[in-house]
Amino acid sequence: MEWLIGIGILLLIFIGIILVRTFLFQPKNEETDFSEDVEFDKKRAVANLQALIQCRTVSYKNKQLEDEAEFLRLEATLKNIFPLVHEKMQWMKLGDRSLLYFWPGVESTQEPTVLMAHYDVVPVHEASWQEAPFAGVIKDGYLWGRGTLDTKITLNGALSAAEHLLEKGYTPQKDMYFAFAGDEEIAGKGAVVIVDWFEEKKMKPSLVVDEGGAVVSKIFPGVEEDCALVGIAEKGMLELELVLESSGGHASSPKPHTVVGELAQACVNVEKNPFPKNVSLPAKKMFDVLGRRSNFMYRMIFANQWLFGGLLDAICKKNGGELNALMRTTMAFTQMQGSDANNVIPPYATMGINSRIMNGETSDEVVSYLKKVIANDKIQIVKKNVFEPSRISEVDCPGYEIVKKAIQDTWKGVLVSPYLMIACSDSRHYGRISPYVYRFSAMKLSLEERKSIHGNNEKVPLDTIQQAVAFYIRLIQMC
Ligand SMILES: [Zn+2]
Repeated sequence: MEWLIGIGILLLIFIGIILVRTFLFQPKNEETDFSEDVEFDKKRAVANLQALIQCRTVSYKNKQLEDEAEFLRLEATLKNIFPLVHEKMQWMKLGDRSLLYFWPGVESTQEPTVLMAHYDVVPVHEASWQEAPFAGVIKDGYLWGRGTLDTKITLNGALSAAEHLLEKGYTPQKDMYFAFAGDEEIAGKGAVVIVDWFEEKKMKPSLVVDEGGAVVSKIFPGVEEDCALVGIAEKGMLELELVLESSGGHASSPKPHTVVGELAQACVNVEKNPFPKNVSLPAKKMFDVLGRRSNFMYRMIFANQWLFGGLLDAICKKNGGELNALMRTTMAFTQMQGSDANNVIPPYATMGINSRIMNGETSDEVVSYLKKVIANDKIQIVKKNVFEPSRISEVDCPGYEIVKKAIQDTWKGVLVSPYLMIACSDSRHYGRISPYVYRFSAMKLSLEERKSIHGNNEKVPLDTIQQAVAFYIRLIQMC
């Protein structure tokens, strides 16, 4: 009897600890003095973006497909719509697809601010669009077009803000650069050339802002409020091919296992053995900020990861998706190739894998893990293309606070959280010269809008265009 009471007391203590930890897991206090609204020419902000959309700056891996005249037209358009920017700033074209503007500050510094964007866009399937993708159509409160969201809107936001501030005679406190690449979508060298230039000049930016997260809703389990996600790092990417050769032969007298069967087995082994959980710092920070704002059940889970961590991991492994991608290196089998004819055993077969590498791990570690799990020495694992994971940016520093404040002043009441970007952007190159790189696309995006990025019918509400300008006006004035 006594032992039963003993167990009962222990159980109560155990539940008590879980509940106390849950109740203590509350949002941290934040000051909420919002700045005044900013006044600027809102119609002009829309007209500027419309002009940029009309330049068909589609980038292709195969350069022959690119229309050089359209890229030159974009440069001419920039001069036209931002005359003061081009008069008062020093303008440099460092490579075919690299534009750099220098805005001298009151004090000159080796630790300037860098505002980034890219001006190329991905191709369109024009027949699937309701409005022409490069006409700059404005209809029912939206501007239609490829690049409206990704990311001519932030290019326009930064330069419209600068043009507006120049008109008012404003000079930034510190030196500022605007760095734009025209080949981000094909992972080109545009941004690399610019980072090389900064490195040569021994500059170490104190703040770099590029596209990335946005203001989104229903992004985190149990959180109802809108969240502004600021990417403080991005995962790496590795394109792999599994290759297996055979002596081929006729399909009428096969061996028990063909090369296709062996590769299929490898695929099953990999899918059954996901990478071990590795919640990197950006994801931990996100769980801490947003976990505290979540509903009771999720707060209990995030506050007691010592107990529920395994359960959360099991759910993520089973469901996959975005939350799982924040917790481990992922693998997606994307391609398969065997014989050209149905009655021929292929002399060799291949499978393509797209892996996204968690920060703190390397592409070599991914390959050794795969070797172990596949456990078939005949299968070659060939690295086709790799970007190692980016550096992780600091959060307790003035740069992050400036971005956060500009967000809170523009989208009032929004939660701001660090996060880990699972897609790649040009900003990864800046890890070389700065630990203060933040990935935030200054716009509030609906789920439908998020889906239209790189898809059909990309369009942006007119007030979203204006908010991007307001964000950059605030940001620039704080730098
Ligand atoms: Zn982009």
